[in-house]
Amino acid sequence: MDARPRLRLETDVLVVGGGAAGVAAAVTAARQGLDVTLVERYGFCGGGAVAGLSGTVCGLYEATDRRGAGPKQVVFGFADEFCRRLEAMGGLADPVVYGKTWTRVHDPLIWREAADAFLTEAGVRIIFHAVVFGAHMQGDLVQGLEIWTKEGVIDARAPLVIDASGDADVVAMAGFPSVVGDDGRVQNPTMIFRMLGVDVARFAAEYGADTIMPQRISDMIRAQHNAGNYDLPRAKIWLFQTTRPGELLCNCTRVIGEAGRELNTLFWRDFTEAELQGRRQMREYARFFRDHVVGCESAFVNDTGVQVGVRQSRQIAGVETLRNADVVEGTKFVDGIARSPWPIELHSGDKPRVEWLLDDFYEVPFGCFVPERGEGLLAAGRCLSAQHEAVASARVTAQCFAYGHAVGLAASIVVRDKVAPRSIAGVDLRLLLNADGARLEA
Ligand SMILES: Cc1cc2nc3c(=O)[nH]c(=O)nc-3n(C[C@H](O)[C@H](O)[C@H](O)COP(=O)(O)OP(=O)(O)OC[C@H]3O[C@@H](n4cnc5c(N)ncnc54)[C@H](O)[C@@H]3O)c2cc1C
Repeated sequence: MDARPRLRLETDVLVVGGGAAGVAAAVTAARQGLDVTLVERYGFCGGGAVAGLSGTVCGLYEATDRRGAGPKQVVFGFADEFCRRLEAMGGLADPVVYGKTWTRVHDPLIWREAADAFLTEAGVRIIFHAVVFGAHMQGDLVQGLEIWTKEGVIDARAPLVIDASGDADVVAMAGFPSVVGDDGRVQNPTMIFRMLGVDVARFAAEYGADTIMPQRISDMIRAQHNAGNYDLPRAKIWLFQTTRPGELLCNCTRVIGEAGRELNTLFWRDFTEAELQGRRQMREYARFFRDHVVGCESAFVNDTGVQVGVRQSRQIAGVETLRNADVVEGTKFVDGIARSPWPIELHSGDKPRVEWLLDDFYEVPFGCFVPERGEGLLAAGRCLSAQHEAVASARVTAQCFAYGHAVGLAASIVVRDKVAPRSIAGVDLRLLLNADGARLEA
């Protein structure tokens, strides 16, 4: 029981989750004059990018094999606007090489402050430290949400709910169809951490500009692991210099359960085990870096993500589904509302598999955010409707911003014209996005 009085809230749009997608959706909808409420379980925004410390904005630039080519940006709109602001606040590094493409390292603290500024300037009502735990339903229509707060439960009502929870939580609570990974198997989580006290000049001189560490490091990790000297289950690793002096952002763990069991954070036991294993592994990799990686001799772990990083959990079953083939073939759609040049970066099995899309990008159609069944709801972000390997590309931050941008504009149509989300034509949304800086025709 809960003896506290229930609270009531009426708003135009309820956005669940303050990750890249939720922030973009909330700000965009509020800029259209809507009363928007964003609900976030932590006391800050950023989700996987900040609480998960994913650390870089991927998905802005095309990949290429052309020698001497520089970064060619193909994603604009809200993603670009957020990055520019981060940069102006000192929270975004210049593009760095990641294999055949580029990414940009961000400061997670400044990310939070940039999101605060965007949301407050747009007039979004933010409810931090609040967990959505139920959906108000009338048949298949979502009418609002049950929100847990320290003050009591909020009974919140809105004509539109945007599920930007990353995990399609509202879709599941509403009982709408959803999909989990490859027949239930999802990409492994990673505990990201940061090391300070690194001699980055020596590190860079030794290993070069690519943030994907060279084969000789992978070979050494594998040899040390096999010799039983360290427990290092992932050999292909990524280390990024950050905006702060003497620091490396370490994307290297492969969080698996006891006896190599793959973990799915939708299960509370797996989520708990992932946190425990993630912290253990972080210490093993840090010890290995100090012992064997040039420049890391005196380095120490500064922090980990607030939580283990979750790449994949539950996807909505949408009226359209992004296929694996769309990613590798660079498919364009007349109702495409976002672009992605990011490769398939599949974290499954012994080592991450990267499949490049060169000098091109694919588009994501609006239907990937419209539930196959269910009204009053749109999804945004990494929980889009997509096949398993397509998720391994379409989930990165620049794209999540772009999905939120599109869904935020869709929200304004839903509320102003009092129409069902599924009645919106993606081609119309594309026009609105272009008028709002998305440059999908450029
Ligand atoms: C280990 C790892 C490394 C990565 N590396 C990169 C990288 O280098 N570059 C890159 O661009 N991308 C990277 N990604 C991917 C990227 O960070 C995420 O996919 C992206 O941030 C997802 O954004 P989102 O808004 O869809 O969801 P999320 O960021 O997951 O946001 C969802 C938000 O909803 C909140 N929430 C969830 N459920 C509830 C609820 N019931 N009630 C209230 N709030 C709720 C969460 O707290 C969270 O803030 C990485 C991901 C991982 C896991």
